[in-house]
Amino acid sequence: MEKLAINGGVPVRSTKLYYGRQWITEEDAEEIKKTALSDFVTCGPKVDELEKKLCEYTGAKYAVACTNDTSALHIAALAAGVGPGDEIITTPLTFMASSNCALYCGATPVFADVDPITYNIDPQSIEEHITPRTKAVVAVDYTGQVVDIDAIRKICDKHNLILIEDAAHSIGSKYNGKMVGTLADMTCFSFHPVKTVTAGEGGAILTDNKEYYEKLKLLRSHGMEHDASKMIDGIPEGPWYYEQQMLGFNYRMTDLQAALLCSQLNKIDMFVKRRKEIVAKYNEAFKDMPEIICPQDIKESDSSRHLYVIRLNFDKLSCSRREFFDALGAENIICQIHYIPVYYFPYYRSLGYNKGLCPNAEKIYEGIMSIPLYPKMTDRDVEDVICAVKKVVENYRKN
Ligand SMILES: *Cc1c(COP(=O)(O)O)cnc(C)c1O
Repeated sequence: MEKLAINGGVPVRSTKLYYGRQWITEEDAEEIKKTALSDFVTCGPKVDELEKKLCEYTGAKYAVACTNDTSALHIAALAAGVGPGDEIITTPLTFMASSNCALYCGATPVFADVDPITYNIDPQSIEEHITPRTKAVVAVDYTGQVVDIDAIRKICDKHNLILIEDAAHSIGSKYNGKMVGTLADMTCFSFHPVKTVTAGEGGAILTDNKEYYEKLKLLRSHGMEHDASKMIDGIPEGPWYYEQQMLGFNYRMTDLQAALLCSQLNKIDMFVKRRKEIVAKYNEAFKDMPEIICPQDIKESDSSRHLYVIRLNFDKLSCSRREFFDALGAENIICQIHYIPVYYFPYYRSLGYNKGLCPNAEKIYEGIMSIPLYPKMTDRDVEDVICAVKKVVENYRKN
């Protein structure tokens, strides 16, 4: 057996490989430069072009680009009419922004448990958590796998709830052949550098609903409308006239970011294809290893593969998750954990949430780890990850 680097052995590789990272080329940088030297650098023609591209790519009718997914979720919740006293049901196995959007609106996040096989929100648990105050569901496509949207849609229709999809992981994914972006009432994307395509920071909301679209446009920019034909107290003002219709924000994306993202979107098919290739290699390498449990796909979902999450089978391993994580780190394979259940955090504790709310999510959290997955990885990088995982498993295998 090869000695682990953490015990003084030679690491599988000499440079660190991280769980995710962007792939920005000279060509992308050239697009940013062109826009930087043009007349518009803030929210202008490039953002318009980006929104059109997002609609073409997903098939959605309307897109509103904004500063990030966190702000996208915030204004989506507001457009859905979420306010003080309301409840939003979401998953705890997510980044905190998925539930914070409820808090921004003065509403209460309610955590439904996840399915033990897919780790996605369990429709039955959603239904169990519905109260007369429930207004919306924020469903997260964990790792890129689309949630069981037909089942969730049915529940939302039955109880008159608005369905918001947090698709930070799942641009490019499909459900029964339909693109993410067309499945929920509103779909929110993230363009953070670890996500499938990046704008540095960025987000967008996609919808087929004109009313939501118009509200989202107002909320993105101070609730402000430009209309020279409007008047104050019956007196026409002039061509400069603008007015505030509601309390909005400055959540505008810049044209610089949109220029980068337009260029990235031209390559999204290649990015997704490469992610799928890497996942196929991992699946093949781990399929006969009972020490590692891989999440299962539902047949309806065709995932664009944001994350590859392995789960340690502690019946077969003699180490803790921490020991496994540190051992991989010493081999220069830098993993991440997605996610600590949101209600574990001190802030959520201070609001009265406690451990024990979602037993499946808590159990899953104990054993999971995201190994490197991003399109710029070479075949050699992929081999290094497989080799390191096997080496660590071998050293900690229970006899
Ligand atoms: C990344 C992420 C977010 C936040 O996205 P930002 O663009 O960084 O605001 C929200 N939800 C999930 C599931 C994410 O992975």
